[in-house]
Amino acid sequence: MRAQPKASHYIGGRYVESPEGHPFPSIYPATGEAIASLNSADEKTVEAAVAAAVEGQKIWAATPPAERGRVLRKAAGILRERNRALSELETLDTGKPLQETLVADAASGADCLEYYGGLAATLTGEHIDLGGSFAFTKREPLGVCVGIGAWNYPIQIACWKAAPALVCGNAMVFKPSEVTPLSALQFAEILTEAGLPDGVFNVVQGFGEVGAQLIAHPQVAKVSLTGSVPTGAKVASLAGEHLKKATLELGGKSPLIVFDDADVDNAVSAAINANFYSTGQICSNGTRVFVHTAIKEQFLDRLAERTVNAVLGDPMDEATSIGPLVSKPQLDKVLSYMEIGKKEGARLVCGGGSADVAALPDGFFVQPTVFADVKDGMRIACEEIFGPVMCVLDFDDEDDVVARANDTVFGLAAGVFTKDIQRAHRVIDQLEAGTCWINTYNLTPIEMPFGGYKKSGIGRENGHAAIEYYSQIKSVYVEMGDVEAAF
Ligand code: NDP
Repeated sequence: MRAQPKASHYIGGRYVESPEGHPFPSIYPATGEAIASLNSADEKTVEAAVAAAVEGQKIWAATPPAERGRVLRKAAGILRERNRALSELETLDTGKPLQETLVADAASGADCLEYYGGLAATLTGEHIDLGGSFAFTKREPLGVCVGIGAWNYPIQIACWKAAPALVCGNAMVFKPSEVTPLSALQFAEILTEAGLPDGVFNVVQGFGEVGAQLIAHPQVAKVSLTGSVPTGAKVASLAGEHLKKATLELGGKSPLIVFDDADVDNAVSAAINANFYSTGQICSNGTRVFVHTAIKEQFLDRLAERTVNAVLGDPMDEATSIGPLVSKPQLDKVLSYMEIGKKEGARLVCGGGSADVAALPDGFFVQPTVFADVKDGMRIACEEIFGPVMCVLDFDDEDDVVARANDTVFGLAAGVFTKDIQRAHRVIDQLEAGTCWINTYNLTPIEMPFGGYKKSGIGRENGHAAIEYYSQIKSVYVEMGDVEAAF
């Protein structure tokens, strides 16, 4: 097979197989062919991973933070050196075009390792003057953290979870989505090569129940999930039952609001990026595009003209700008929403069905699709589709569009296009979303905290903020005088 790993899991600094585990394939979405076969972790394997993490964490927590930082920065360098090979693997596993994976996946992972590697030696506590006596605080690791990933950005998600966890002195057991199991194994190898002690970062494969076993394990302190809202609810309730800490990065149906004074071409570019990049499989996508009626037809004309230029095709060809969806179930889901949109009476501007790519007849391709005249209550405007389906809605009034933008259970992201700086800030201040953009969309530099309001999540990844979610503060009171007592 084209991308068969040495074994399914990576535990204690080496590859490990679980021959009795449930076998499952990794499928190349452009052809439908199996590129690897792996086995889900059985109970023994889960136990081994947690035991390795417990041992590794003791060594890692005793490693000076500056040294931890050097290891992470070295791993960042190796990721960059191997960017092409890692990108090709990510393209095979996800179907995302190489044009994207070369710049957005391992590269973003490397940025993240470098960022937290740089912060390592700066993670200090406070000195609190109590008048003679004093207190100080220390930032301590949580212990063993579990990372559970979605399938859209496999290596990026692994890095975004591992880097802040590791810099704080934790160990991690990471479970990729069973749809995209491969690149996390390569990442684990790279960490070992960079000098990470054995057991500090482990990968176990499997379906949801493996994730659940890890969360419930008594020696696990925390879970960080990237996934859908229904999975987030299950993970939060299991974490609650066991009183584990949880960070949840979940789904969205985010608004992108384009006012009548916006630069229309830039707004169209943002709407394209916010709906068609990664074939629309991005949690923070601006899938509800509210366009002021004064510029709506101009906006739709430019959008339709430019969408024709999308190159659907072989993801391994760097000229391809839209690859297949990740899997057959995702293909069926997205096609069903296209039909729902038509039945609900939205105006189909372009796309609207599966796409034929001559050389790849079995690929999970769909056309980039734009619906206009979408109404707030339509299912295509309320539910997360996770495919290249853009809904364009009209508005005339600022207060009205803000209320409609916020009228959702989600709160992951939001964007505003306007040249009026006061309006931009006024609107952003009112939007119920964890990550917002003014005059751009979907840029997520590592320096900027990322996460959701409302049902889109709990906690934050990236930036200094993530440190709060992977460490705990110990307060120490130091008495400098005598101890008084009543008797
Ligand atoms: P899922 O929620 O289906 O799965 C996410 C992960 O959770 C997978 O590894 C899955 O395992 C695992 N899982 C499933 N059930 C359980 C359980 N009961 N206990 C523990 N783990 C479990 O999401 P998808 O993989 O389909 O990814 C798409 C979703 O992810 C979208 O909703 C998207 O918005 C969201 N997402 C959010 C991001 C964010 O940062 N906010 C970023 C990227 C995606 P398996 O699938 O192997 O069974």
